[in-house]
Amino acid sequence: MVQRDVEAGTYGGRVQTRFPPEPNGHLHIGHAKAIAADFGIAQRFGGVCNVRFDDTNPDTEEAGYAASILEDIAWLGFDPGTPVHASDYFESLYNWAVSLIEKGLAYVDEQDAATISAGRGGFGQPGVESPFRDRPPAESLDLFRRMRAGEFADGSMVLRAKIDMMSDNMQLRDPVMYRIRRAHHFRTGDEWCIYPTYDWAHGQSDALEGVTHSMCTLEFVDHRPLYDWYLEHLDLPSDTPRQYEFARLELTHTVTSKRRLAQLVAEGTVDGWDDPRLPTLRGLRRRGYPPSAIRSFCAAIGITKTNSRHSIEELESHVRTELNQTAQRRMAVLHPLKLVIENWPTENGVPNVEWFEIPNNPENPDDGVRKVPFSGVLYIEAEDFAEVPPPKFFRLTIGREVRLRGAYLVTATAVVKDPKGEIIEVRATYDPATRGGSAPDGRKVRSTMHWVSAEHAVPATVALYDHLFSAEAPGERTGEPLDDLNPNSRELITDAKCEPILAKTPPGAVVQFERMGYFAADPTAPMLFHRTVKLRDEWAKIQARSKAPK
Ligand code: ATP
Ligand code: MG
Repeated sequence: MVQRDVEAGTYGGRVQTRFPPEPNGHLHIGHAKAIAADFGIAQRFGGVCNVRFDDTNPDTEEAGYAASILEDIAWLGFDPGTPVHASDYFESLYNWAVSLIEKGLAYVDEQDAATISAGRGGFGQPGVESPFRDRPPAESLDLFRRMRAGEFADGSMVLRAKIDMMSDNMQLRDPVMYRIRRAHHFRTGDEWCIYPTYDWAHGQSDALEGVTHSMCTLEFVDHRPLYDWYLEHLDLPSDTPRQYEFARLELTHTVTSKRRLAQLVAEGTVDGWDDPRLPTLRGLRRRGYPPSAIRSFCAAIGITKTNSRHSIEELESHVRTELNQTAQRRMAVLHPLKLVIENWPTENGVPNVEWFEIPNNPENPDDGVRKVPFSGVLYIEAEDFAEVPPPKFFRLTIGREVRLRGAYLVTATAVVKDPKGEIIEVRATYDPATRGGSAPDGRKVRSTMHWVSAEHAVPATVALYDHLFSAEAPGERTGEPLDDLNPNSRELITDAKCEPILAKTPPGAVVQFERMGYFAADPTAPMLFHRTVKLRDEWAKIQARSKAPK
């Protein structure tokens, strides 16, 4: 579409887009799709994309949200530049409104909101013309000036475009252009007591900025004739911009609506806008999602004209692919079980300590190695030991030999239980000839397990996450998404044991805990790790299932 315009020389071959967030909340993954489209298309055609705050609702908008939106756009990897604001154009919009009144194309309506709404009619039901519709332009002009001057109460009158109360398109049934609202605007303060509607502000803002391709989501298809109508009846400083629509991004097991997200935050269901369970860009960042993975996901899903819900596993798959390349491998035991090596050497009663060099990332030899201490008392993952192994359990059990990653082969010999019969310790022997983890006689073991030396272990708190909503499409069942909240979306483990180098993880960095997944160090709390994603690619499984013959 854009390419066709460029080739045809429409707009002199120029491409200009905009990303128009309303500063009434934080950006979410859906916005990432819009940002990728707006900035991406501009980049691809050598054009520009500007951020425009759509700040026409003073009641809900805040400077703090605007600042965080710019931060999030930059984090995602796009340059927000200097933002512009719909409120920059309040004077021009006002003058344009005056010109429409003068042309007899707009009028002041003194009906109340409920009457106006009822008079709109409905689908297959004609609208009712307002008794004020044919008042002389001079009268509307006078009232409109006095609306601005603050002579009338909030809600007592509105300015409406005079289009067609019989139109099949509800948007064209004399839409409201201005309402009276005494509210403090975060930029214009108390300068205005009338505010333009989204529709009245949007296309004209596009035109003032020189936007050529104005992309929005599909629910605005019906608004396009109105967008065009306004521009057609005004003297524009530039070529007429055009609106195009694309599908909203929805993901399974979550919601992408600022209103819903705000509700979760306000009701304390989550810890804040940056809760790692939220699909907000701040939440995803804290969870450890690399911005490049979000961009590659957006590129993979593309821009379409039909609404659909994408699997969250597809997004996670991009995250995993990226982190596999970049994340340093570490060892951390989430549910520690003591493993005591009976034949471990001591010197003067003190157990020896050996330091093993283990690669930081086998995918990336340039990342080098780190030193990991090993001694006679270790922690292993509780689930890696079974006193009575179930079928196909190849991990540690009495009499079986396994590999402790990068260190030695060990064989379990006995268990120690507490008075309640719970296993509190596993005893084992190690084979000194297997230093580094392989046997000189070539004998094989079926499992390699992670471990942490007890004496050197650094304690950590680890947050494991499950879907925030248990239903794939929250709200589909009852109409209320909150009915589908997963009560167990977070599991906090407070006594995880980490290899020492993990204490030096830079805030926000993501590492792989071997066999347990990718984990992001919290940006502020020390030794708090959030599981970004598990290691297993569930997306591959979902795809294989959908491709399999039925
Ligand atoms: P919400 O419904 O979450 O409040 P919104 O559309 O009101 O979203 P805006 O701040 O107005 O939020 O959105 C800015 C831009 O981002 C708009 O162009 C909008 O179409 C786009 N956008 C918002 N949500 C999505 C989504 N889920 N998928 C794709 N684009 C989106
Ligand atoms: Mg909006």
